[in-house]
Amino acid sequence: MRIDAESGEEAELAQVVAGKLKSLGLAVTQDDAGAKFGGNAGNVIGRLPGRVDLEPILLSAHLDRVPPGKGIKPVVEGDRIVSGGDTVLAADDLSGVVAILAGIRMARATKKELPPLEVVFTVSEEKGLKGAKYLDYSQIEAKRGFVFDSSSPVGVVILQSPTHVSMDVIITGKAAHAATNPGDGISAIKVAAETIRGFSFGRIDDQTTANIGVISGGVATNIVAEQVSFKGEIRSLDRDRALSLAKDCAERIDQTASRYGALAEVSTTVDYYGYTISRDAHVVKLAEKALSMSGKDAVYRSTMGGSDANVFNSMGLESIVLGMGAKDVHSTAESLPISELVAAGKLARCIILAGLGE
Ligand SMILES: [Zn+2]
Repeated sequence: MRIDAESGEEAELAQVVAGKLKSLGLAVTQDDAGAKFGGNAGNVIGRLPGRVDLEPILLSAHLDRVPPGKGIKPVVEGDRIVSGGDTVLAADDLSGVVAILAGIRMARATKKELPPLEVVFTVSEEKGLKGAKYLDYSQIEAKRGFVFDSSSPVGVVILQSPTHVSMDVIITGKAAHAATNPGDGISAIKVAAETIRGFSFGRIDDQTTANIGVISGGVATNIVAEQVSFKGEIRSLDRDRALSLAKDCAERIDQTASRYGALAEVSTTVDYYGYTISRDAHVVKLAEKALSMSGKDAVYRSTMGGSDANVFNSMGLESIVLGMGAKDVHSTAESLPISELVAAGKLARCIILAGLGE
């Protein structure tokens, strides 16, 4: 936690965890993901050959943390770890990194011949899942993955996550003096207000949310505003619904703008696609078995957030996300119960051993 590693600046931490993986006997490489988006480190990929008759298991967590994440001074306070109060703790997602390292160490200590293991510690997860998007998949053989990165308690298994579409809108009207010749102007603010009035905010149905979260525009009170831009997002567990809502929305903005003689530039981007993993999927059965080996019942949930698992699933690597038990993540109040960290490590160990199919 003390090693600074905000998104795009993971080089030092990447080197440290690569060293730890090597000391556990893994062959370690780093891909060139960082170079593709301006980060100073690639994803750390570790590989431990195992029984050739067993399918490889991928264990993953991300190295970066959200700001303020520099100069973290972790403190053990009773039965939990907290930050000094002026930064996040980076339990999101170092709890996942540590659990995987501890799990491999404990699984190796059994002296059993293990299933082949692949470990991926990604970079820049918090900035648009970039590490996962630029991961060198040619180095990955596993077809099933476990992402140690949910802020739910240990025991929670995330089976469903939404498709996330973001929208970037620029409305261009026409400037004019607001008092001497207002009729010559087209107010981009008025057009934006009209389009936003027709937008559904918040929870649209039990699978879908929408929000406009940024707006800016205009220059002065005595000028009819020429330009306004705003940004929004739509998420839905139903992929088609997310895509069709975004399309409808773009069309409505376009129609409203042209009614006023303004120009609308709407760009929509799928930031990531959603997934739904069946309870009967092998990856889920492995998690369930591992949880019961570690004395816990599996609790299945869906999330409205995204993670590297969204990208992995899109790439055909069937992945679920596991609760790590950190609390108040993405805030300076972030904390990690030590019992949850221990449980997460045991879970990683049990997943590896569950892969033996004994
Ligand atoms: Zn995370």
